[in-house]
Amino acid sequence: MTMELQQLVDTFKSYAPHVDTEPLVRAYRFAEKAHEHQARASGEHYFVHCNAVAETLVKFKLDLPTICAALLHDVLEDTPVSRDELKKEFGEEVARLVDGVTKLDTLQFSSHDVAQAENWRKMLLATAQDIRVILIKMADRLHNMSTLNFLERDRQERIAHETLSLYAPLAHRLGMFQLKSMLEDMGFQYLHPEEHQDLAKKVQELNQSRDVALNAFKVTLETQLEKLNIPHRILVRTKSLYSIFQKMERQNKPFEEIQDALGVRIITDTIANCYALVGIVHTAFKPVAGSFTDYISVPKMNLYQSLHTTVVSPHGDVIEIQIRTEEMHRTAEYGIAAHWRYKSGVPGANDPHLEEKLNWLRQWIEWLQDLKSPREFLESLKTDLELHQVFVFTPGGEVKALPAGATPIDFAFSVHTDIGMSCVGAKVNNKMVRLDYVLKSGDICEIQTKKGSVPKKDWLSIVKTARARSKIRHYLREQGIVA
Ligand code: MN
Repeated sequence: MTMELQQLVDTFKSYAPHVDTEPLVRAYRFAEKAHEHQARASGEHYFVHCNAVAETLVKFKLDLPTICAALLHDVLEDTPVSRDELKKEFGEEVARLVDGVTKLDTLQFSSHDVAQAENWRKMLLATAQDIRVILIKMADRLHNMSTLNFLERDRQERIAHETLSLYAPLAHRLGMFQLKSMLEDMGFQYLHPEEHQDLAKKVQELNQSRDVALNAFKVTLETQLEKLNIPHRILVRTKSLYSIFQKMERQNKPFEEIQDALGVRIITDTIANCYALVGIVHTAFKPVAGSFTDYISVPKMNLYQSLHTTVVSPHGDVIEIQIRTEEMHRTAEYGIAAHWRYKSGVPGANDPHLEEKLNWLRQWIEWLQDLKSPREFLESLKTDLELHQVFVFTPGGEVKALPAGATPIDFAFSVHTDIGMSCVGAKVNNKMVRLDYVLKSGDICEIQTKKGSVPKKDWLSIVKTARARSKIRHYLREQGIVA
């Protein structure tokens, strides 16, 4: 057994000691043999890449079929091995996972954009059936990004762009923050090398003075917490270069004018202690009014949970504080991958409601499938992944998250298809607005409907969400109004 294989087996055994690793060893050797005569652009053996993808996924503590599929993930695309052969050797589950991450034959498409759209469509459809497909794809992209320096400049740019516009936002949606920020910083480096270098230097300089303020706060906080018998550890939070860059672009301001609060995280054992800690923090420091947000009782769509608050330190620094349990911390770092962790023999067993929580993803992928034109599909995919969301309320107080730029029609469809279909007008904060009004966070939106009313063709140029677009298109097509 080579050292790499031994290490992979050992890491897997460390979290799944009772699982027979014979298939893993076989998958390793099978893939190594299949890629035998291929090399990466770096000049290394191709299989180095397959092993790196598997290594990332054992770090996430994923189950055996996922690790086998990770080792085999490129054999269908890049070697003569067939799906049937893979199924015969490793079973239907592994064959299906590998098939899910395999790209379609490029020759059948008219352009690169069409191929890209169709490949995303295929991969997301496979993900709807099995979430592990996207986890393998993410680990694959991570290694490809880390070896990008061996490619030609135009390919670097194309891959970095796809990483920033699709992979990183999707990782964010799936709550995989660690992976997301790794992808972003690498993408940023290739797409804007000068800005990256400049910003890295400035942030490093600034961090030296910020570290002093943060450590002073940490010491004060620690003395407050020591009096109590609550287990905790305090982490200092650093913002990624790319998120600072995005903020500069968004606000059109130079680095020096970006207001960026200092941040710490307090990690504890139980939910009750999270609330106890927030009480202590608010007693010891002056909280900023309206800054407290409870994502424990109302988790974000990507399963993220924490208590957020902002306080003013004795030295006058504004400090953002996140309080969470160890388990919430893992979910915040690894997202859905944390829920797929191997535990007591049953993947996903740590969260009985996982399936329910992932319904939004399946539903969303379904709407995307309705968009027949590749351009429209890719556009909707990007818009729906937009990190910048607005939160709009129904008159009943229910909140709907929509991409920035969304209109009352998007809102209507997010409430119910029938409401969207028969929408004739909208009131925002009690005032009549046009249907192309751009919704803002905090808006209360009331939709007026009329029985028998139907969607108009020009709505297609107004709506932002895949859901609204697919429903409208479906109707117009049925009526023969659009092709
Ligand atoms: Mn690959």
